[in-house]
Amino acid sequence: MKIFHTPQELQEYRKTCQGSVGFVPTMGALHNGHISLIKKSVVENEQTIVSIFVNPTQFLATEDLSKYPKRTQADLKICSLANVDAVFMPEVQSIYFPLEPTIVAPFSKAYILEGLSRAGHFDGVLRVVLKLFNLTRPDRAYFGKKDAQQLYLIQNMVKTLFLPIDIIACDIIREEDGLALSSRNIYLSNEEKKDALLISKSLKIASKTIMSRGRKTKEIAKAMRETLLPLHVEYVEILSREFEPLESIEIGNTIILVAVKVGTTRLIDNIWI
Ligand code: AMP
Repeated sequence: MKIFHTPQELQEYRKTCQGSVGFVPTMGALHNGHISLIKKSVVENEQTIVSIFVNPTQFLATEDLSKYPKRTQADLKICSLANVDAVFMPEVQSIYFPLEPTIVAPFSKAYILEGLSRAGHFDGVLRVVLKLFNLTRPDRAYFGKKDAQQLYLIQNMVKTLFLPIDIIACDIIREEDGLALSSRNIYLSNEEKKDALLISKSLKIASKTIMSRGRKTKEIAKAMRETLLPLHVEYVEILSREFEPLESIEIGNTIILVAVKVGTTRLIDNIWI
């Protein structure tokens, strides 16, 4: 497995790649969620490139990115065992420049939900993903449905900037008890982990209600909020796949999204109906 630290090294390597290239962008501290994306790419492509980069432009000034978990050696081992061909782990200075054109995510979809409490977050996400796409020039890029809004905005960027890349949406990987895997789960105490189970429980209740009792989104959101009551709920939203409000659930075109704080840890989850 090759490891590259500079854009130039990666670009030279990319010129030598034959067959399809799959790309999995990550911020490291890899868990089974990331691994599922990597495995899918390895199966579907001749070459797989993984990036590990804690992107500063997607963090708010108030967020401490130095606290983001770092596990470089373990991450490299995971990539190597998964048969990744190349890992790209650049320094911030080699990715960003003092003067550069930038990209702004569409306001109406980027300043709601995750973007409401994290203004500018998705501008930073699109900015780095576009740079990484230009460096890796992948045929396919793999993203988790866990970050549904991010996935939507990346799909929108690829479509509207005519990038020749297939975006592959990958299912959410969960613990056996239902908790969606996240790099942030390590911040949870045992007690908080139990509390966090209310998130997947509320989503399960929502899907059961849809199957048995009704499809009015207001009522479903209310039932979910009741389940989530012990937690600090940031939002419960039931939206179309285009992130538009819905009055009634539309099977095949609905995402139910939750963001809560458990202690000081912010967690998100969703289900696709
Ligand atoms: P991150 O390192 O948090 O930027 O995540 C890198 C990629 O892994 C993103 O596309 C995430 O949506 C995806 N991902 C994170 N957690 C999960 C999970 N539990 N299941 C599936 N994909 C995930």
